[in-house]
Amino acid sequence: MATCAVIVVAAGRGTRAGGPLPKQYHEVGGETVLRRTLRLFAEHSDIHTIQVVIHPDDHARFASAAAGLEKVRPPVAGGRERQDSVRAGLEALAGEAPDLVLVHDAARPFVTHALISRAVEAAAAHGAAVPVTGVTDTIKVVDALGTVASTPVRATLRAVQTPQAFRYDMLRAAHDAAQAGGIAGLTDDAAVMEWLTDVRTGTGFDVHAFGPGDHVMLGGLAIPFDKGLDGHSDADVGLHALTDAVLGALCDGDIGAHFPPSDPQWKGATSDRFLVFALDKVRARGGIVAHLDLTLICEAPKIGPHRDAIRARISEITGVALGRISVKATTTERLGFTGRREGIAAMASATIRLPEEDLL
Ligand code: MG
Repeated sequence: MATCAVIVVAAGRGTRAGGPLPKQYHEVGGETVLRRTLRLFAEHSDIHTIQVVIHPDDHARFASAAAGLEKVRPPVAGGRERQDSVRAGLEALAGEAPDLVLVHDAARPFVTHALISRAVEAAAAHGAAVPVTGVTDTIKVVDALGTVASTPVRATLRAVQTPQAFRYDMLRAAHDAAQAGGIAGLTDDAAVMEWLTDVRTGTGFDVHAFGPGDHVMLGGLAIPFDKGLDGHSDADVGLHALTDAVLGALCDGDIGAHFPPSDPQWKGATSDRFLVFALDKVRARGGIVAHLDLTLICEAPKIGPHRDAIRARISEITGVALGRISVKATTTERLGFTGRREGIAAMASATIRLPEEDLL
């Protein structure tokens, strides 16, 4: 069982709620907002330690809010920006070095135990997790003069809340790197992690020769044709090239190393499993696939009429959004083995985003 701490950020002076007190010290239902927040985490069995970051003027208010609650460590003073305050909390936990850390805003006292559990579980599995809600307003991006620059598609937008959950070592390294790099003003911890993302590109290439048959598998789709493709598996050159591109981006060998043609268990295998295997490796390292681009090279069959169906099939296999998948086709002007209609070649590139290597 992973050890888990929570940093409760309570250093803000926010007085939007009215009155002379910062909002985390207002009373809700007979207790302060901060006490209610701390109590919810103290009562949760996944949480082992609570580190509160307060304003230096608030020691007495904090003492009263935290009185008698278990798991709450002595508070540390926050900095000028939220980012500085979280960093102070992470440093205070260095001796304990928990496996996971949650970061929560003190002024969100209605977090549920179920949400805390899901954040912990998702961070344990994926390295990081943030709770989000759909956006009901239409959002505009404006320039410095207030002129509308664009209107993002609302279905692609999410409003981010807390608690945000991370592997402690990764978040601490990300905050330290942001500090060293002079990156300031990031308003949530996921943004600190995103800033440190390592973008990588891999390429893949594959060829299979025509043989007897009545269809070819291309990008996971069966395309009727007067020949088939020879190969140990289903000979899907498109998925093989994509698999190698993803493995290349990971610096993790190639399809032949993971699925040797000498191994009888891959005989006749459908190639979607090879690509899913590579995608699972990206996700296991806390990464995402940003883009896949496949080029199929042959004189026949004609790819154009099947292009969108192949894209949709690759999206279905990988779980990568359709708008991040490209399929193109070309001939070689009747030159070379593809020009002589002896087989089909495929080349692919994959762009992935991983947590920075030195964090792992
Ligand atoms: Mg192959």
